[in-house]
Amino acid sequence: MSSKELRLPELFGCMVFNEETMRQRLSGASYEAWKQSVSDGTQLDLHTADEIAEAMKNWAIEKGATHYTHWFQPMTGVTAEKHDSFITPAGRGRVIMDFSGKELVRGEPDASSFPSGGLRATFEARGYTAWDPTSFAFIKEGSLCIPTVFCSYSGHALDKKTPLLRSMEAVSRQSVRILRLFGDSETRGVIPQVGPEQEYFLLDKELYKQREDLIMTGRTLFGAKPPRGQELEDHYYGSIRPRVAAYMADLDNELWKLGVLSKTKHNEVAPSQHEMAPIYTDCNSACDQNQITMEMMKKVADRHGLVCLLHEKPFAGVNGSGKHDNWSLATDDGQNLFRPGSTPRQNARFLLFLTAFIKGVDEYQDMLRATVAIPGNDHRLGAQEAPPAVVSIFLGEELSAVVDSIINDTDYHSTRKRTLQIGVDVLPPIPMDNTDRNRTSPMAFTGNKFEFRMLGSSMSISGPNIVLNTMMAEELKQFADELEGSADFDADLSAVIRRELSAHRRIIFDGNGYDESWLAEARLRGLDNYPTAVDALPAYIREKNIDLFTGHNIYTREEVYARYNIHVENYTATMEIEARTMIDMLRKEILPAVSCYGITLCEAYERKKALGLPHRHEENYARNNSLLTDSLSDACGKLEKDLRHVPEDPEEAMLYCHNVIVPDMQECRSYADQLETITARDAWPFPVYSDLLFSEI
Ligand code: ADP
Ligand code: MG
Repeated sequence: MSSKELRLPELFGCMVFNEETMRQRLSGASYEAWKQSVSDGTQLDLHTADEIAEAMKNWAIEKGATHYTHWFQPMTGVTAEKHDSFITPAGRGRVIMDFSGKELVRGEPDASSFPSGGLRATFEARGYTAWDPTSFAFIKEGSLCIPTVFCSYSGHALDKKTPLLRSMEAVSRQSVRILRLFGDSETRGVIPQVGPEQEYFLLDKELYKQREDLIMTGRTLFGAKPPRGQELEDHYYGSIRPRVAAYMADLDNELWKLGVLSKTKHNEVAPSQHEMAPIYTDCNSACDQNQITMEMMKKVADRHGLVCLLHEKPFAGVNGSGKHDNWSLATDDGQNLFRPGSTPRQNARFLLFLTAFIKGVDEYQDMLRATVAIPGNDHRLGAQEAPPAVVSIFLGEELSAVVDSIINDTDYHSTRKRTLQIGVDVLPPIPMDNTDRNRTSPMAFTGNKFEFRMLGSSMSISGPNIVLNTMMAEELKQFADELEGSADFDADLSAVIRRELSAHRRIIFDGNGYDESWLAEARLRGLDNYPTAVDALPAYIREKNIDLFTGHNIYTREEVYARYNIHVENYTATMEIEARTMIDMLRKEILPAVSCYGITLCEAYERKKALGLPHRHEENYARNNSLLTDSLSDACGKLEKDLRHVPEDPEEAMLYCHNVIVPDMQECRSYADQLETITARDAWPFPVYSDLLFSEI
């Protein structure tokens, strides 16, 4: 039966070697050994690994797979895979399909072409990958993909999954300590839950192919504002056009087969922009699945003659794309620790977790900002379409009033009817229904989770979640250390909550984050403001942040520096590619085109003049064309010259690109865009914004 004919419940996860499939296909002993290794991290013995490998292979072959790959997430932020086929020679020219436990649990890709930020000496170019048994294997395009971690031989993490798993363990350990204080002796683990909403643009492939900038950099480096932008707001939640609808249906189908809980789809604010939100799941799976989602979005688009753009800002003057990382903590039996509970005790617990989060965001605001610092996001953050670059928390009117009443030791009276009493006498009741209507906050409490809205659409969500998990682990650890020996738990608990809320009240802001006055107020409050990636990245190597990560064994000092170096180098590399692409388009397409067009204008001018006809228009346009063409040529020459002087030192290079190359590029663009507006449509060398954004796809 083809997958098209399957009903959704059978289709869902049919390409995933999930728990149910393992239960069916493994011996009882092996299944239990696998479960054990997932719940407490014990290593699988080789016999069990062999049995799992055999079952996986047979399942994969039945589904048409011929290859397997250790699927991992190097520090580039995308995924990597090296495919090996299952075939093994079996004599007399025959082959058998073989896959051993050893091959399942460990691989050795040639790691020399992945960034290591200086962690891997050249003499040990190889790294190794090891199966992450907490994440299910799946089949993608005929290959069995085995989610793995990626390390160097000296044990350094070279990927984004290893520190993520470490951070999940850290926050679990500290959360359980807190739960014990509240009399919970059952819970064995606490798992961060994540639901990432993903925005993207769809473009017609034929148009895309005519734009070198889109192909090389993922965004347009030129383009005058079209006559119509997103003013009419008719696209947001508007009806979905047939070709896009067919794409979305196909995408859902592919994602469901891979066990991704794709749930909502709708049009976004900008023309041609859309969003997909999955149902939340554990943080590790959510990160894997977001990578799969981004990959599938691109592949499926290709089948429909479309291109999916995941860049944060494909078009100037049009809303860019982000990702909302919805994050919460849940116990292993599914209680959400950010949900005000039904008993007074649960509410006191909620307040303590809330307080830890508020304290964490305030103390590590610079680090949270740094995790979203990529060049593409510089075009969005603070640009009135995405949160400002200042990190703050939105709690909503009711919960903020609760916080204030705790700080001021005053009675709290809810403006709404439903409130909850909490046991620790001095703590006030908590409103039940908190609905977030603020869309401008970088970190919004939305009833039972926090929504971190600063992520760029192209990013791996691992980095931000590593910081959320780790800062939470740190704050909970401090609370547990203080409260574990307490003689009067209720009194001490109230005191801790009051003290910390008072100390960190400044990070809570319920107003309009797009308002100019907020930046001034944020400065008065002493909050950080790092407008660009270049300003934000040094947070990686600030001592307090290194202490945070080393203290919880998330990163070693060397691993922190490696990541910082990679971001710094990536910034420069991105700018250099953009600048070179710009020069190429200017020299080979735009300048020749406007020069030719100038001649056309001059010829018209000459001939009209010779005939004694009015020729003011031709004269004006020819003059403007010539003036702008010269200015553009000069600006391009300056960019070329400056690009030859990028310093060797990585940090200096990043600053230089930011201070010199970016303004040079802005200058070039400004002349080119002005020329576009005075050049005949068919004389312009590639499709313009109105073609790209309003073509009927
Ligand atoms: P909105 O667009 O209003 O932000 P969506 O429904 O598009 O809302 O997205 C909300 C996201 O939050 C979904 O991915 C959803 O599964 C996720 N989510 C809901 N509850 C939780 C939770 N407790 N923890 C983490 N994520 C959650
Ligand atoms: Mg959202």
